[in-house]
Amino acid sequence: MKAALIVDDILHDFVYGKFKNEKAARIIPPTKRLVSSARRAGIPVIFVCDAHLPSDPEIKLWGPHAMKGSAAARVVDELKPVKGDFVLEKRVYSSFQGTGLDLLLRDLKVDTLIIAGLYSDICVRHSAADAFQHGFKVKIPSDCVSSLFEDDKSSMEYLRKIYDAEITTSSELIKALGKRSGA
Ligand code: ZN
Repeated sequence: MKAALIVDDILHDFVYGKFKNEKAARIIPPTKRLVSSARRAGIPVIFVCDAHLPSDPEIKLWGPHAMKGSAAARVVDELKPVKGDFVLEKRVYSSFQGTGLDLLLRDLKVDTLIIAGLYSDICVRHSAADAFQHGFKVKIPSDCVSSLFEDDKSSMEYLRKIYDAEITTSSELIKALGKRSGA
């Protein structure tokens, strides 16, 4: 198994801005720990971030958010990408659509995706759908995702049932990554 960690949309607008959300803010500390341990274990960390244009279909539905190039579209300061991380921009829900993610994962010889981020019933769900449909194994750390409309448990159950996602926690994953890095 070779894994990559996908961090979807933990952006200013989703936590502190337009969609300010205290429940979303709670996933930041465990996600930060997971990102650090992935880096230590040599697991690629790939931030996939909304960077919208005004003509994007979502803008009509949700109003302007995480507009390309704006401060609101930046990854939250707590999780700032560092050298060696990958940062891809997206204009729709799925991390795979129009981002080159599939090609990057194949270059990295990755077969398993750990998906963290916002929201487990929107972008994480669409990314998990495409991951599953492209043949990747999906793992979801339940404390590093948050739902918007559904309760967290139902959103997790959907990911498990429909995309065969393994529902786990950041601690479990960090333990496994620690063994791989010999730490
Ligand atoms: Zn969006």
